Amino acid sequence: FDFTYQARLDGKGKAVGILVFAIEVTERKREEIRKNDFIGIVSHELKTPLTSLQAIVQLAGIRLRKAGSADGFLIDGMDRAAGQVKRMTEMINGFLNVSRLESGQIHIEKTQIDFTSLVVEAMEELQLSSSGHQLVMDCRDVHMVMADREKIISVVTNLMGNAVKYSPTGGRVEMDCSCNNGELVFSVSDQGLGIAPHDLERIFERYYRVSGRQTKNISGFGIGLYLSAEIVRLHGGKIWAQSELGKGSTFYFSLPLED
Ligand code: ADP
Repeated sequence: FDFTYQARLDGKGKAVGILVFAIEVTERKREEIRKNDFIGIVSHELKTPLTSLQAIVQLAGIRLRKAGSADGFLIDGMDRAAGQVKRMTEMINGFLNVSRLESGQIHIEKTQIDFTSLVVEAMEELQLSSSGHQLVMDCRDVHMVMADREKIISVVTNLMGNAVKYSPTGGRVEMDCSCNNGELVFSVSDQGLGIAPHDLERIFERYYRVSGRQTKNISGFGIGLYLSAEIVRLHGGKIWAQSELGKGSTFYFSLPLED
């Protein structure tokens, strides 16, 4: 059951009772599970053909170049096709991860990692594809932390990717990390669209996207922050954001520092 409450007031506005609404959600939950299973199956089925398509397109591009082809249209087309297939693969991986997460199949394997170098690696990767954004990293100290490197890099990449995606070309994106009171805190700040308070409350929900004129043409499925939040939670950390509409946002996450 989902419960909601409402105060009963008398004519003078004094509370005289409380109404409790209990809404049966079993069917809705079942529907959610069915939807999640369906998405999981479709994503799984699409993954294999997409992987071979990606390999074929990449190989074709390499061969054309090696053969010294002068067909610029074809070479350019292959590069673009490879880029699109890569995007599709990333989307499918996102859906697969949601499905894995909800069926308890995501496991955290912690090792000792150098967090700063992980952020630098993610920045370099993003710099290759970002449209002229200024990525700046304030922290240079080595911060060692126990974490699942692959999963935490996906969180860092997601937050930095969003900062780029939701701010204008050439915008400044700042990363920072610090260790205090037994935890590491990482932040990503942008000077982009910003998020209204009522959306800010919900952006970590699965499939939640801010709707509006400015975000209408920005593609996405609202799963990146949901996955990031779950990964951080599985590490025993916290994730949160501060934002001002029209000014920009800062996303934070913390990880406990273990011995
Ligand atoms: P996606 O970007 O694919 O929609 P996310 O889960 O990563 O999914 O983000 C959820 C929503 O939160 C986005 O649709 C966007 O509206 C908002 N959002 C996330 N990061 C930012 C940011 N840095 N600036 C403004 N809005 C953001």
